Amino acid sequence: MTSSEPPQDAPLTPDQRAVADRVITSLAGPDARLRDDQERAVGALATPGARVLVVQATGWGKSAVYWAATAVIRAAGGGPTLIVSPLLSLMRDQVAAATRGGLRAATVHSANIDDWSAVEAALLDGSLDVLLVSPERLANPGFGRRVLDALAGRLGLVVIDEAHAISDWGHDFRPDYRRVSDVLQTLNPQTSVLATTATANARVTDDVADQLGEATLVLRGPLARRSLHLNVIDDLAPLERYAWVAQELPMLPGSGIVYVLTVADADRLVTAIRTVHGDELPVASYTGGLDADERARREDDLLAGRVKALVATSALGMGFDKPDLGFVVHVGSPPSPVSYYQQVGRAGRALDEAIVMLLASRVDDAVWEHFATATIPDPDRMNRLLTTLAEAAGPMTVPAIEAETGIRRGRVELMCKQLAVDGAVERSSDGWSTTGRPWTYDAEHYAGVLAVRRREADIMRAFIRGEKCLMRLLTESLDDPAAQECGQCSVCRGEVTPGLALRPDPETLAAIGAVLRRDAQILAPRKMWPGGEFGTRGRIPAESTAEAGRVLAFADAPQWRDVLDAAKSGDGQARAALADTAVSVVADWTRAAGIRPDLIVSLDLTGGDLAEALATRLREVGRRSGGPLGVRAGTRPGREATGATEAVYWRDHLEPVPPVTGAVLLVVDETGSGWPVTLAAAALRDAGADAVLPLVIHQTA
Ligand SMILES: [Zn+2]
Repeated sequence: MTSSEPPQDAPLTPDQRAVADRVITSLAGPDARLRDDQERAVGALATPGARVLVVQATGWGKSAVYWAATAVIRAAGGGPTLIVSPLLSLMRDQVAAATRGGLRAATVHSANIDDWSAVEAALLDGSLDVLLVSPERLANPGFGRRVLDALAGRLGLVVIDEAHAISDWGHDFRPDYRRVSDVLQTLNPQTSVLATTATANARVTDDVADQLGEATLVLRGPLARRSLHLNVIDDLAPLERYAWVAQELPMLPGSGIVYVLTVADADRLVTAIRTVHGDELPVASYTGGLDADERARREDDLLAGRVKALVATSALGMGFDKPDLGFVVHVGSPPSPVSYYQQVGRAGRALDEAIVMLLASRVDDAVWEHFATATIPDPDRMNRLLTTLAEAAGPMTVPAIEAETGIRRGRVELMCKQLAVDGAVERSSDGWSTTGRPWTYDAEHYAGVLAVRRREADIMRAFIRGEKCLMRLLTESLDDPAAQECGQCSVCRGEVTPGLALRPDPETLAAIGAVLRRDAQILAPRKMWPGGEFGTRGRIPAESTAEAGRVLAFADAPQWRDVLDAAKSGDGQARAALADTAVSVVADWTRAAGIRPDLIVSLDLTGGDLAEALATRLREVGRRSGGPLGVRAGTRPGREATGATEAVYWRDHLEPVPPVTGAVLLVVDETGSGWPVTLAAAALRDAGADAVLPLVIHQTA
């Protein structure tokens, strides 16, 4: 809904300016005033029915605009402000800020249900100026309908924070955010709407502006950040990047964030840093796997400077604000210049200088491709889910859908939200059900989204290659018309910021590699036979199972990459390094398990002799006997094979095992599913082994 007259620049009246100044001085001190560009936004919003999109760099002061606009609108007898904001921690800060600004603010979220009715009452009787909600809360049928139906006609201002998330052209589209634009359709035509973002290129900006209404005023400022010294070091091996961070961390100013792409990277990098510095340089990981309290504690540690750095995935995101953050290092960049700009923009907001470093590597391409495709719906699976819901007697919970369709829970949640955006399903307090509205896969749209994401990845590749001034490239990719050379990035200077090394020392690299390689993963034994064509189903009897085993190298763990490749191709030095690690892993493990192997056998599944070579070394060290188990030739099942097919194959292709006694250490070169380990262990147990301890050299993902 848009007013017939498009919102124009409307200067503040002296009375309005006095109201705005009162808010700003109570927030930021007696001398604080709105800047011209901020005043322009407040003036536009004071016009009933205005639609304003503000695209400004982080730290520009967007919240000052919506607090001032709220006060001006309230002073003129307008209704309260609804702020849709993505993060709880951000909302806590915002309620505190609004209160300092003399506004009465409240928030509703899942942790304060007891307060909801009081908040609703206060909104309706006019004693509340500001309500902050998350997009998820707004999309919730109970709250969304009850509060918005009562309130929609009376709001003075709606603020959509981080509004790029409304657009699925954006890199971090959130389906719940899409519901926000539905809310806009139900508003009183007199309600003004402000959308804010720091990180939107022209395509996303246009899409957001379209969703706000045709007469949207877009206020765009320069996005370059003077304090940031951008640097790229290209083509470090994955382990070298860990070593660089561990070595150079003390050289970086103040405290900061080291971003990594995966949770596994976060844990390994923390270990690497502790290997070099012990407790001298406190660091902690920060990932989506931590509970909310623990994350808040670690954020506080960084805010207070009690840690040198948090090693974080993108879970440390919107809403974290430490104005004196001294540096941001990326061990692998996110796949889009928009997210990259957002993450580096956390550094140096209130500093003259902050260091930004991207350690790039070709191995990140695979992760980028995963990010690009992960949220694109698969039409077959969507239809499977819709059929399941249509045939159900009533609404289905997410776990029930998972059990019925075999689609992972997290994926089911995302699919349901995407289908809800398209109107094909709806959520009630009992779960999800179909609306009866047909759903069609918009292939053209998703092909477009995928193409945009791949183009964004190409821009990051150009950034990594240093094709031009890094700040210029970044701000140009955000369609900033004021983009220009910064004079201080590693491309402008022709070198990285003085004092920082280009490569880690070989000793640091070796020390970190050795420590990380000793960090073996536990291999949980399978408990159930697969049934199906395998015939046998149900629990594997205790007398046929393996003990909990160990995996030396998991997937593409960077500490193993070079060593493993060389060891597989027979390199003596690499095999010696592998054997050293295995000896200490086996010693720790068998001591902890209280079992000493009497016999050491090997199982080479990939045609080489790596497992037997390692077993030979372990036999020498432990003065044990043993030999290789045989495998019959055959065509192995492919990657998509079911567990039953794999289990049948290995049952039929493992040579019969001679009689054995005592505990057996079973060394296996490489497996993905683990079925050959399960079947070999069962065969060894049947042949007389009291216990089987599987040691897998490389478990592929
Ligand atoms: Zn530059």
